[in-house]
Amino acid sequence: GVGGHHEVGVAEMVRKKMGSFVGFANLPNQVHRKSVRRGFQFVTMVVGDSGLGKSTLINTLFEHKLYDLGAPRSLANGSSMNGNANGRTVAIESKSADVEENGVRLKLTVVDTPGFGDHVNNDEAWKPIVDNIDSRFDAYLEQENRVNRSKLMDNRVHACIYFIQPTGHSCVPFKFLSPNPKMIDLWGVLHLFRLRPIDIEFMRKLHHKVNLIPVIAKADTLTDDEVVAFKQRILNDIAHNNIQIFQPPIYDLEDEETIAENEEIQSKVPFAVVGSDTFVTTADGRQVRGRAYPWGTIEVDNEAHCDFIKLRQMLIHTHMEELREHTNDVLYEQYRTQKLLSMGVAQDPSVFREINPAAKQAEERQLHEAKLSKMEAEMKMVFQQKVQEKESKLKQSEEELYARHREMKDALEKQRYELEERKRRLESGRPPTPDKTGSKKNRFGIGK
Ligand code: GDP
Repeated sequence: GVGGHHEVGVAEMVRKKMGSFVGFANLPNQVHRKSVRRGFQFVTMVVGDSGLGKSTLINTLFEHKLYDLGAPRSLANGSSMNGNANGRTVAIESKSADVEENGVRLKLTVVDTPGFGDHVNNDEAWKPIVDNIDSRFDAYLEQENRVNRSKLMDNRVHACIYFIQPTGHSCVPFKFLSPNPKMIDLWGVLHLFRLRPIDIEFMRKLHHKVNLIPVIAKADTLTDDEVVAFKQRILNDIAHNNIQIFQPPIYDLEDEETIAENEEIQSKVPFAVVGSDTFVTTADGRQVRGRAYPWGTIEVDNEAHCDFIKLRQMLIHTHMEELREHTNDVLYEQYRTQKLLSMGVAQDPSVFREINPAAKQAEERQLHEAKLSKMEAEMKMVFQQKVQEKESKLKQSEEELYARHREMKDALEKQRYELEERKRRLESGRPPTPDKTGSKKNRFGIGK
């Protein structure tokens, strides 16, 4: 197992018959021939509640009974430690199969994770999954640091299919919403179908570490309208929470056909999938993989019925290499940089500097000092700002004081002038001058 997790590894070799088509025969067209000789490694992880059809979908995707759906799971190594009687996945387990299609070899590994419902406490349900992804990165990093790097085993998780339950989630119990049935319909579309907090938390914990591919599980249980509304809601929630999911890139592509193809795939995200590894007979007598209902048959391999074909096209036929590259160039690179930094190793891809305690201490001291001087500068700035504020306030009140002083001075001056005038008149014995109106009439309008 990887990193001490309870894992069960089962390797088998299955030669695909010519004519049956899964899609990885196209891998040589996706990568250089050198990789063809070595064969390909691809690791898919499935995450979601138990019973959402994870095992069934994997079998459907690779046309291979990787999971024996009838038997209790996790008993492959003969130990009952990882399995229980009702076939639930209770520990992280991985299964591998060497499959070959038209001469192209693929070592396929599926990492199955425990369903959320199986946890007593769901708060940290994501932790063992993140730990598993990390330990796979660690194992790769360790190989890279070895002298002989000729044959790297790439057991990093290249894609994580995240199963969203088709019943959605309502924040408010229905009966509290509105007694008006029309409103309930509206609220149903707006609110019932949305991601649960646990879905959001999971995806937030995973999206920097793995190519996230959200799918709506068991889409045959939803109407077409519900699928459309649910998809929109999910995309909104994903955008709102800044979750990055894997999307086939359409930028920096020149070939129009590929752009159209990728846009077509993008338009189906999150894929509404139906899984089934059994054949049923349609009304018109065709044998198809699907699920039979009294009102008709849902066909897995029919694009009008679900997005299974598009998911498989992206995952296997057109973007397997893209998923592997993005894992290596972006997700793993981020992880490695963080890891090396946290170990005190300078970020230099070519030279792994020895961990030197003295150098590390000096580096830490430097960081600390930088932090202190930054704080000092900030405090200075705040202080200066405060002083400036005080100064301008003082200046303002000074001006106000000055203005008031002048006013008072003027008023006093005027008073003094008037008093002096009156004094002069009294001294000269002259009668007082008429008032400002100059009128000689009294208030009754009668002239003197
Ligand atoms: P897991 O616990 O997530 O691995 O789920 P399983 O693959 O064991 O499936 C659980 C049950 O759901 C089984 O009875 C399957 O037959 C059924 N199931 C699987 N996929 C689908 C699907 O797409 N639609 C419906 N309606 N049922 C499904």
